[in-house]
Amino acid sequence: MGSYEEAIADLTRVVELRRPQSAWNFGDRGGAYLSAGQYGEALADLTHAIEHGPRDTWSLAQRADAYQSLGRCEEALADLTEAIEIDPTEGWLRTQRGNIYRLLGRYLEGLDDLARAVRIDPLDKFGFATRAQVNESLGRPEEAVADYSRAIEIDQSYDWAVAARGRLYRKLGRLDAARTDFIQAALMDPGDPRRVIELSIMGLPHAGMPLNLQSLVDVEVTAAAAAGKSSVLLDWLRAKGILAAERDSRLPNGHAGYPPGPFHQATVAPSETAVSAGSAAGAETVIGRCASYGPGNDQMNCPSCAAVIPLHDGHGPTPAWDLLNDVMLRWEEGGPDSLPCPRCGDGAGLARWRVQTPWAFGNLTLNFWDWPPLGEEFVRRVSDLLGHRVVVITTNI
Ligand SMILES: [Zn+2]
Repeated sequence: MGSYEEAIADLTRVVELRRPQSAWNFGDRGGAYLSAGQYGEALADLTHAIEHGPRDTWSLAQRADAYQSLGRCEEALADLTEAIEIDPTEGWLRTQRGNIYRLLGRYLEGLDDLARAVRIDPLDKFGFATRAQVNESLGRPEEAVADYSRAIEIDQSYDWAVAARGRLYRKLGRLDAARTDFIQAALMDPGDPRRVIELSIMGLPHAGMPLNLQSLVDVEVTAAAAAGKSSVLLDWLRAKGILAAERDSRLPNGHAGYPPGPFHQATVAPSETAVSAGSAAGAETVIGRCASYGPGNDQMNCPSCAAVIPLHDGHGPTPAWDLLNDVMLRWEEGGPDSLPCPRCGDGAGLARWRVQTPWAFGNLTLNFWDWPPLGEEFVRRVSDLLGHRVVVITTNI
């Protein structure tokens, strides 16, 4: 984040010096804001650049990215359509728009864009992986398997596609192939909690990949305000000595996080001891839509008709779990959060479904890795500081 902050500061000076002829500089700063997760600021700058400078494909695609991060897919679609009209030969614009069509459930239009994208660039792994998802949604599993496999051939370290193909194999009842892909994906990225949870849900061993994660999820903050709240929260945690001033630890997920500070014990329940010396404990914030959940739910209840929907049948996850997982992933990318009930057909938002073990969906998540159990008092202080309701999700596998 440090380098983005410096870039934003530099570009702010450039914008101030060269006002008002600085549409390009607004575009550059908008791009830096986008990388830093400051989606509201990114949208304002990119809009300024587009309205006061040349309407070029790059600025439009960047603003589409900002709109998507804010969950405004229709506006992202309009910008990408304009960009493609300006330059119909750019394959990556088709890939991006094909993905937006997918998030909006307009699969046939998405399929058309993605077919063109991979024809323009036969090494576009995102194009193939996105088309695989569209083919899955259209009930064309063999085409989907072929597309995931092509994406993995192009990039053999593409762990996301390996895991997605594993989920598809599981849906098709090809459990051996599913297991192979899940284990492979987990080995490729052992710190990704999703991989560990997937193995656990499949009932597969995950030795050597323990997961001890406590997530404090702000379930009320908007996507545009999340980066600002993250700064307030991290400044407070560092000022109180709960976290070290500088990020330097390598968290189990491979991210740079903040190690415990001298007063980190203020976070834990009264009966808990401090972080043990030499542990990999650390904390980070995640800005943007993130679903936090563990493997502990065997069923969920429809908020409209109270139907009990099994998520696990004792052998493995049910089709309802796969549908839930697909909706969560689509929501994280900016899509809608409605999950249709198999009994009454009502499409209630994810947060309204009732579950035994809590899950949470928010735009700002504070993750504590390998940290002793957090105390209620600390969670209340975080909630007061943010001015929002905070849900704690604990995953210990
Ligand atoms: Zn229902």
